[in-house]
Amino acid sequence: MSALRQRLHAPSSRGAQRVGARLLGVVLCAAAVAGVLGASACGAGNATTQEGALDVVATESFLADIAQNVAGERFTVRPLIPLGADPHAFEPTPKDVAAVARADLVIINGGGLEGPLLDTLKNAGGSATIVDASAGLRSRTPQPGEPPLAAGQIDPHFWLDPALVQTYVTNIRDAFVKADPDGAAAYAANAAAYTAKLKQLDDWIEAQVAAIPPQDRRLVMNHASHGYFADRYGFQVVGTVIPSVGTAESPTAQQLGDLTTAIRASAAKAIFVEIDENPELARQIAAETGVKVVTDLLDHSLTAAGGDAPTYIDMMKYDTRRIVEALK
Ligand SMILES: [Zn+2]
Repeated sequence: MSALRQRLHAPSSRGAQRVGARLLGVVLCAAAVAGVLGASACGAGNATTQEGALDVVATESFLADIAQNVAGERFTVRPLIPLGADPHAFEPTPKDVAAVARADLVIINGGGLEGPLLDTLKNAGGSATIVDASAGLRSRTPQPGEPPLAAGQIDPHFWLDPALVQTYVTNIRDAFVKADPDGAAAYAANAAAYTAKLKQLDDWIEAQVAAIPPQDRRLVMNHASHGYFADRYGFQVVGTVIPSVGTAESPTAQQLGDLTTAIRASAAKAIFVEIDENPELARQIAAETGVKVVTDLLDHSLTAAGGDAPTYIDMMKYDTRRIVEALK
């Protein structure tokens, strides 16, 4: 499947834009966004780092946003994986490896999401500490319709439950305090403020989902991405097109047939595909079963500023709206 993926968004450096135009480096980055320079030239440049500030890279864009909320004004967290790219299958460029080698901290989602990228990060050289944002979280047990996890495999999609992201915030805060004790009070205050926002987000999603009749709270996903979301908000996962928590596998004809049967038996109303995934198989199954297909979920990457999901919280609200619209 991954060969069929398309990159729908050009890389950009939203993380650098957040801080504002206080720093000359940020002004240079704005020029990069306008197309004068490549994004990694911007993101990797030391010009964006204040004197003495931590140099911090986060693998996914949503993770960089979460970490930026904890960092506040003390430094800019740079996302490694370009907007719109699939974190399950990301291959870093030499510039990415160089940026990691220069960093003090590299924040990863963990749980296996980064796949082979993690080995590259560990072997990038330099002295970066790798911070596993999901450390301490336990993998869920798949529901009956979902693909089983292989021995030792973890469902890495913790971030689709904002209550679990509170653990990310705690882990990131503790890593920042350890690396930069002078900022301890600021990191603690920022983490507390963002945790309050995550609680508000959780309440908001719950209120939105209440508009879906209980018998229609059924998800069919393109890959097994929404298990934690389903567990948190009371959805049944009827099945997935790709039989995995990753995106590299392809379904057999038997598995597609079983999914078609499960959709018909459950009266599920829609199949949900992420914007960077190939929707063809989902479209075929939707045509066979008469259900809707939603092809523009956003949950593995943010969008650029001005898009539908420039922050993690925006991304979760966007996805929730798309799901509720399709099922209510
Ligand atoms: Zn995924």
